[in-house]
Amino acid sequence: MARELKEVQGIIFKRQKYNEADVLAKIITKNYGIITMLARGALRPKSKLGAALLNFSYGTYIIYTNGHGLSNLRTYKNIKQFNHIFTDINKNAYSSFILDLIDHAFIEYQHIDQYYLLADFALQKINAGVDAEMITQIVQMQLLAAFGVKPELRHCVICRKEKGNFDYSIKYGGVLCSDHFYTDSNRLHLKPKETAVLRTIGLLPAERLGEITISAQTKKATRKAIDQIYQATIDLNLKTKKFLDELNLLT
Ligand SMILES: [Zn+2]
Repeated sequence: MARELKEVQGIIFKRQKYNEADVLAKIITKNYGIITMLARGALRPKSKLGAALLNFSYGTYIIYTNGHGLSNLRTYKNIKQFNHIFTDINKNAYSSFILDLIDHAFIEYQHIDQYYLLADFALQKINAGVDAEMITQIVQMQLLAAFGVKPELRHCVICRKEKGNFDYSIKYGGVLCSDHFYTDSNRLHLKPKETAVLRTIGLLPAERLGEITISAQTKKATRKAIDQIYQATIDLNLKTKKFLDELNLLT
């Protein structure tokens, strides 16, 4: 593909200084996946590019690209920011983790389809003050498929029963009904309502989930379960996750 100018809609989520006064910024876009943009001179006082590259800025970026490697940021329009995420350490930590996770599920320029919408949905909700922990759990459950882990949540992995009490089995990669608990002594030993939460948030499209209110205790249990599933199947070891866990210990 020849170099050409393109307009991309997206959300900035990582940035670093490059050379003397340049910035490398990662952006998750609707149509081109995740891209790294080079903004030459963005750190110079007179540059107009810097302001559009703050984390959690979003809008239209006009880039010069050949469809791989670095793209050059030329200009931008209609840039806004998820300002509550930018200023609140908690919201910031959750949002950074969510985007880091999506970043690790795809390579640059890979089409990410509904996951852009999922990222946008999550950030809008977190910015608006919806429970960031719950939103993060939803994203994590839905993102398992993008990592190639497709947990069976619809029915028991052994007998395909859809109703009843369930637990989660990492060994079988899905839910077990109570008739088949005996098949995996290392199942996660979740309470039925905890497994029900995992099934709901993993199966329903995020925008149809509405507000989910569950007790702090249930939320803690599902958090632990999701962490166990990720560790056993993907094992990413992300700094953003470590930071989030440390932050949660303080609150
Ligand atoms: Zn069964």
